[in-house]
Amino acid sequence: MAHSESIEVSDLFIIGGGINGCGIARDAAGRGLSVTLAEMNDLASATSSASTKLFHGGLRYLEYFEFRLVREALIEREVLLKAMPHISWPMRFVLPYHKDMRFESDTPTSKLLNTVMPWMKGRRPAWLIRLGLFMYDNLGGREVLPGTKTVDLRSGPEGLPLEDRFEKAYEYSDCWVEDSRLVVLNARDAEARGARILVGTQVLSAESEDGIWRIETRDTETGQTQTHYARMLVNGGGPWVGDIIQTKVRVNSREGVRLVRGSHIVTKRLFDHDKCYFLQGTDGRIIFAIPYETDFTLIGTTDAEHSDPSVKPTCTPEERDYLLSFANQYFKQDLTQDDVVWTYSGVRPLYDDGASSATAATRDYTLKVDTSTGAPMLNIFGGKITTYRRLAESALEHIAEHLPNVSGPWTAGVALPGGDFPVDGVSNLTAQLKTDYPFLSDYWAGRLIRAYGTEAQAVLGDAKSAEDLGRDFGATLTEAEVNWLMAKEYARHAEDIVWRRNKLGLRLSEEQIADLETWMAEQRKA
Ligand SMILES: Cc1cc2nc3c(=O)[nH]c(=O)nc-3n(C[C@H](O)[C@H](O)[C@H](O)COP(=O)(O)OP(=O)(O)OC[C@H]3O[C@@H](n4cnc5c(N)ncnc54)[C@H](O)[C@@H]3O)c2cc1C
Repeated sequence: MAHSESIEVSDLFIIGGGINGCGIARDAAGRGLSVTLAEMNDLASATSSASTKLFHGGLRYLEYFEFRLVREALIEREVLLKAMPHISWPMRFVLPYHKDMRFESDTPTSKLLNTVMPWMKGRRPAWLIRLGLFMYDNLGGREVLPGTKTVDLRSGPEGLPLEDRFEKAYEYSDCWVEDSRLVVLNARDAEARGARILVGTQVLSAESEDGIWRIETRDTETGQTQTHYARMLVNGGGPWVGDIIQTKVRVNSREGVRLVRGSHIVTKRLFDHDKCYFLQGTDGRIIFAIPYETDFTLIGTTDAEHSDPSVKPTCTPEERDYLLSFANQYFKQDLTQDDVVWTYSGVRPLYDDGASSATAATRDYTLKVDTSTGAPMLNIFGGKITTYRRLAESALEHIAEHLPNVSGPWTAGVALPGGDFPVDGVSNLTAQLKTDYPFLSDYWAGRLIRAYGTEAQAVLGDAKSAEDLGRDFGATLTEAEVNWLMAKEYARHAEDIVWRRNKLGLRLSEEQIADLETWMAEQRKA
């Protein structure tokens, strides 16, 4: 191929606008690389909006001896918390203890214990949980988050919603994160540093010609196709990582991805305090019950094999019932399917390490560079929301081996948009917003600060009353906010807003969401 002067060749072309694609785009753009990112649907429309939303070390991974992953993730929790104190916050996790608690049978720890202490018969003893929590407290980087303590469930509020047989619990720290907002804020910051972010843009094919990638994309709404050129390709396709390797780039590779579906259910609020529960089941698995969106409780997750990324993951009736009966082993309130107000489901794109069960497959990430076509392609397998920034740094190390003049790591400690305030500054910011905009309710002001942080004022502009914010779409969503989301946060459809930029879908009726969709369609045309 002869490259004419007019052809613009980016340094990087990234496929996929999930957390890994957007995290790499931000890091790379900040190091002076020219970056184009294409996402076929909305940002975070796949796995990165369907997580349990924890910045966590992953207590249960200790039983799989995943010390590298746990240590990196534990250190990372606080690095991330400080860079985004609006969309992320510390949480306490209550782990009720009962002597009948069991291991999953194929963890390395359970195998070891079965050999040296066969009389335990698969039970997960209290001393082992304490040892795990001691490691969790001390493996790395804990400055802001409080350590583990024992809780008397017979006297504290944590015991009230639980069945009486639970008398004792351990309480430890991890963090919450608004996963889909994390993705969008990374994309915005990448764009502010020069990246091009294309949503509704599907990559149809990528071919290397004379060491340069030629990438064909299609606008999923207009059908228009476009050609892009880049020196290096990053495959951040999540569940589609294998599909991209095999059918879009057509590389003959043996690298495999294991798709493991995880589903969550949401109920009306089940308890009155702000702590989460870490629940151990009779099958050795664990699930969380987490205070969610002020008035709700989030319960999850499951591990089920998922064969095809093009099959949209949904919470099956079996998964819903499994989660209900799991929670019913703990809570006094007997939950039924009528208590479920919403469900969501996502697919973990795990590196296929040959593990026997879906639960046991590694959650660590693996980065592989393929140069077999004559131009470099970086494929991303696995990973956690929690480790996205470190994954991006590792990706940039690989990228620097193939592109000249890549500067060093910079993202640790640099705030995401709206996150430039102290870790404990949310209540001050909320109070200030209420002073500046006295017509806001507590819920409304709190919601805006949690979403936009120091940018909340910019969303509201010089409004003196709720009417000044334009049309009211319901549940505190106004025209001013929708305009911001369309202009600055790549939202094109009602669904992008009510299920990913926020979770107002839990509060809006179907009719209100349809009205929002109609209004947004008119805006897009205009
Ligand atoms: C149930 C569940 C719970 C989890 N809980 C946690 C948790 O609490 N904490 C944590 O740290 N991690 C958690 N994770 C893991 C975490 O969510 C994932 O590791 C992460 O979101 C993966 O991000 P990704 O960018 O690789 O993939 P995705 O978010 O799936 O992004 C890939 C993107 O690529 C796009 N794409 C694919 N093909 C093309 C194409 N041809 N052209 C253009 N775009 C394309 C897709 O549309 C998609 O948006 C959880 C995962 C699941 C499923």
